[in-house]
Amino acid sequence: MRIGVLGLQGAVREHLRSLSRIGVDTLVVKRVEELSEISALILPGGESTAISLIGGEAFLERLRNLAKSGFPFFGTCAGMILLARGVDEQEGSYVGAIDITVARNASGRQVHSFETVIAAEGIGDDIPAVFIRAPYITRLGQGVSALAQYDGHVVMARQGNVLVSSFHPELTDDLRIHEYFLNIVEKRNQEDLK
Ligand code: GLN
Repeated sequence: MRIGVLGLQGAVREHLRSLSRIGVDTLVVKRVEELSEISALILPGGESTAISLIGGEAFLERLRNLAKSGFPFFGTCAGMILLARGVDEQEGSYVGAIDITVARNASGRQVHSFETVIAAEGIGDDIPAVFIRAPYITRLGQGVSALAQYDGHVVMARQGNVLVSSFHPELTDDLRIHEYFLNIVEKRNQEDLK
């Protein structure tokens, strides 16, 4: 099992570090062709507009097709914006792999970044979470489960094999959210073998 981390911009190294601490094989994905060499993709935090522009339409189109086939994605912060079906005050979406709408920069400006502890369903009730100009989820579609809330906002959600969080688990030493995602990937790989 090899996990890709989209390596166009943002907190790429931090995700690689979490994954290698768990002991899984990783690949930094910078080209569309590399998407066929992985069984799941993490979209890191950074700047969603920059990531989408650097990747370009061909990249987004390939990700949309993968999403239709049940490919596992995990998006943190900007990565969540890229995976959402809707972005407030903006027309259209990027990948649209999960039926949520998000509001960008909802947790405030860079100087208002903060770390807190949240409860995440099925994962733990003491998960450290770092918020940096984080998006909040403003609409949850049917079939999307809210996994965590902070200050009355949904900040982590899942639909099928797609997981998103407003915050950055890769900036902490806690590996439980990455392990939760790897579980999703493992289950899907086993189903494929059946
Ligand atoms: N505000 C950024 C965006 O809109 C996301 C910030 C982050 O990923 N830490 O892309």
